[in-house]
Amino acid sequence: MLDIVPVPAFSDNYLWLVHDKASGETAVVDPGDPAPILAELDQRGWRLTQIWNTHWHPDHTGGNLALKQATGATVSGPANETIPGRDVELREGDSVTLGSHLGRVIEVPGHTLGHIALFFDEDRMAFVGDTLFAMGCGRLFEGTPDQMHLSLARLMELPDDTKLYCAHEYTLSNARYAVHAEPGNGTVAARLAEVEAMRERGEMTVPTNVGLERATNPFILAGNVAEFARRRAEKDSFRS
Ligand SMILES: [Zn+2]
Repeated sequence: MLDIVPVPAFSDNYLWLVHDKASGETAVVDPGDPAPILAELDQRGWRLTQIWNTHWHPDHTGGNLALKQATGATVSGPANETIPGRDVELREGDSVTLGSHLGRVIEVPGHTLGHIALFFDEDRMAFVGDTLFAMGCGRLFEGTPDQMHLSLARLMELPDDTKLYCAHEYTLSNARYAVHAEPGNGTVAARLAEVEAMRERGEMTVPTNVGLERATNPFILAGNVAEFARRRAEKDSFRS
């Protein structure tokens, strides 16, 4: 059993701490800012042993060097991107381990070209970075609609109950666009109402899960690549 702790950073990032009590190991996923991570580790008495990056963007890697220097943690990140302090290059089919827990690397290009996700089969969880958000997906800064469409499809092949840990709290804005893109979809409308209530109470809306995204994510509900591309472009300038 792993403990997963969200550490909020910047305006809407979640940095994820992953702790394995059995081995005493702790990993952090996408530490854009080292300070809140060091504070959380200190408060919990956890020792950081690993840093995992999903992609190169500074709000995901900005804390790598400071955390590595402070803790000696090993940095693992996508092979095809420039990752500060990287010790281990991760490619499709590689894995990371935390104690006895194993996470498989899935390449999910689109937001960036080398973006990876980490899927822990037995723990039914995946760290998806900026590829998939609750009811949304990352902007196509480097990749093509085809690549992102396929990347999202690969994540949707994971078991329905897989928790998806995304890196930003974008759900409310995504849900508003989802209702626009999927008019008449009662499941999408109901989730918007739920998300509005959660945010009013100051609650987090992530992690999400595969089953929920398959039912309510407009980028996954887009039937084909052309419709996916149209929706992605529309969302880029959508004002909710
Ligand atoms: Zn990013």
